[in-house]
Amino acid sequence: MQTVVKEQQALSIFDQAAQYEHEQVVFCHDKATGLRAIIAIHDTTLGPAAGGTRMWTYAQEADALHDVLRLSRGMTFKNAVAGLNLGGGKAVILGDARKDKSEFLFRAFGKYVDSLGGRYITAEDVGINTRDIEHIATQTQHVSGKPEMMGGGGDPSPITAYGVYMGMKASAKKVYGNESLNGKRIVVQGAGHVGSYLVDLLAKENANIYIADIYEDRLQAIAAKHKVTVIAPDAVYDQPMDIYAPCALGATINDDSLERLSCAIISGAANNQLQDERTHADKCRQKGILYAPDFLINSGGIINVYYEIIQQYNRERAMQHTEQIYDITTKLYQTAEAESINTHEAALRLALQRIEQMKNLKRLY
Ligand code: NAD
Repeated sequence: MQTVVKEQQALSIFDQAAQYEHEQVVFCHDKATGLRAIIAIHDTTLGPAAGGTRMWTYAQEADALHDVLRLSRGMTFKNAVAGLNLGGGKAVILGDARKDKSEFLFRAFGKYVDSLGGRYITAEDVGINTRDIEHIATQTQHVSGKPEMMGGGGDPSPITAYGVYMGMKASAKKVYGNESLNGKRIVVQGAGHVGSYLVDLLAKENANIYIADIYEDRLQAIAAKHKVTVIAPDAVYDQPMDIYAPCALGATINDDSLERLSCAIISGAANNQLQDERTHADKCRQKGILYAPDFLINSGGIINVYYEIIQQYNRERAMQHTEQIYDITTKLYQTAEAESINTHEAALRLALQRIEQMKNLKRLY
């Protein structure tokens, strides 16, 4: 059953959608498979709304709605800044990715994605792997991040990690005068898909790596490959460090963490790192922490997905495009400095400018 919630029954939901200016929010429920999901389409000015699906155990349903609304909005800005012809969308499936997955849950989800006729294109996010994508792809063509054997680009995480690495190097150049990460104390929070690929890249540069995760097996997998120091999840913010790389969930840059963080740079993959965009981006600036805007530097994954959507997948082109994150980040820091604004605001302006230009172009015919 697909429910578009009636206005009179759910004013608060509409208020939330209005606050972030969403075009469409779709609630998906399938009793047989236990599917409970929300698809949020934020803005389709630049193209079909694209963004991954997250599977997570939310404490309350309201948290899932809040998450999908914020994540889809972030996708609009991410796709705009990355120069992609894609709008912003995202989906969340409520459930435990370690316990609640099944083939038919994802097939059912695929049907809901298909019902939107291409207005939303899905892919992987937290809790979703290429096997799940395969099941979704049995029901819809509006899915990306497909396995290589299906002609897709596979897991986008390695390219996301590469983009984060580019953003981190551009940040190091700005702060230290050179882009080397050799010997830098870097805390990677989240040893999942992106976090572990990021560690691979940082290890090649002989960075001094600290990792934290809530799952022991993930930490062990990385520790078996690289010389890293494992720290407890709640010790992350107090760890003396040069660079904090949030690669778990959002809102970790907040009043509490900013009191405790001693880093010079924040540069990681997680979406919506700032708990409050204005306050916490300003606080970073006041504290002399260079914040690499998340939606700019973590765009490698969606860039990879884009090259799967628009043509036969081409990894080389996706990598070249992702490498540009270094130059865009560098220019963005110059703009932020010249205009005396925080780095998040500078990235937002860049995104909104492209969207406005497209709206203007659409008025011409
Ligand atoms: P993932 O699920 O593979 O990894 C996330 C990891 O964070 C997991 O190992 C989880 O156990 C850990 N974690 C959760 N809470 C934690 C906590 N409090 N402390 C420490 N670790 C914790 O997800 P991923 O694909 O690696 O994505 C990581 C982040 O990057 C997410 O915010 C995601 O939205 C964002 N992102 C991912 C991609 C991509 O290509 N996968 C692209 C853009 C953005």
